[in-house]
Parts: sequence; C-alpha cells; structure tokens
Amino acid sequence: MSRETIEKLSSQKRSPKPSHNSNNYSIWNDIFTDSIDLHKQANSVHNYGPVLLELDTEIIKNTYTGKVWVTKSNPTTWDTNTSHERKWFVSVNDLEDSFHYGSLDHMIVFRHCGGKLPILGHLNRVVLDDPRLQTERYRIDYFSMAFGALMLAMKEGGLEVPIEKRTCNQGCSCLDSYRNGKSEPEKMFTL
Ligand SMILES: [Zn+2]
Repeated sequence: MSRETIEKLSSQKRSPKPSHNSNNYSIWNDIFTDSIDLHKQANSVHNYGPVLLELDTEIIKNTYTGKVWVTKSNPTTWDTNTSHERKWFVSVNDLEDSFHYGSLDHMIVFRHCGGKLPILGHLNRVVLDDPRLQTERYRIDYFSMAFGALMLAMKEGGLEVPIEKRTCNQGCSCLDSYRNGKSEPEKMFTL
C-alpha cells in the first residue's frame, strides 16, 4: 500500500502523523519497491520492518496502472529545485546505462495504481526476521506471533505462499540490534 493509503487507515484509529516530505512531489499515493533484499545487503535490520515481501518481476508487466517509473535519486533528498531528470530515469537508454541493482537511490515505483498494488499471483515468498526475543507483556516470541498474524492476513487475502524465517549472513548485526534495543522489536513486531 502507498503511504497515503496507510496514513488514511491509521488515522481512522488515531490522530494523523505529520506528513513525510514526499507528499510534496505527487508521489504520496505511489508504491515504492527496492530491487534487492536490503537486510541482506546491509547485514543489519531494515528499519522499515522485519517482513520482506518478495515480488515476482512479472508484476511489472501487470500492475493495472501501466506506469512503472524508476527513481534516479532518493525522494528524501529531493527539494523544489530538483529537476525531473535528477529525480527519475527518463529513457530506456538512461536506465540501461545507469541503473544499479541494489542501489538505495534506484527504486522501482508503481505509479497511479490507486494506492494499492495487486500482489495476488505475484508474491513469491515472505521472509520474516526472528529476533529470538519474547514480548514483554505476554511472553510470546515475536517471530511466532508475527508468523501467525501473517498467516491470518494471507488467508484473508487469498494468498498461499511460504513464510520463511530469515537466514542471515555471517556477521549480520540484526540480533544485536534487536537485543540492545537499537531496533525496538516491540514497535517493529506489534501494532
Ligand atoms: Zn540479520
């Protein structure tokens, strides 16, 4: 879902949060995806969350929007003076010459898709972090709790794909980060 869709759903439950600056650049209702598993690449917790949805590239052909754009720079660095050519790849040649697989700047953006990406049939698998910790309140391990919630959500959405426990590379700092509270499992795994 897009930031706008998520904000709208959240604001039904609580007061709206301050807007992200991307709100100013007509991308608030678009959906941003990365070309690589960022947890694996950075060897650390990905701050956007402990769940990775791995999409099949076929979805690019079948977005029901017809428009898939690729950013040339990260929107968090855009300002009112940033030109269109510095924000986005503007041609196939431009993309072939300069796109770097795994770059944090080069994000694949599903535009004008009504704030929701139809992933049914295009989700290969779900990868879930296991912080090997328990919730303070109920003494249930975070992984099992999140696994159950994802199973339920997938059943409701008609999705049948494997949920895999993340296997980290040697030297990954995620367990330390979850344990020392740098990445707060309570915030990342519970509502
Ligand atoms: Zn890890």
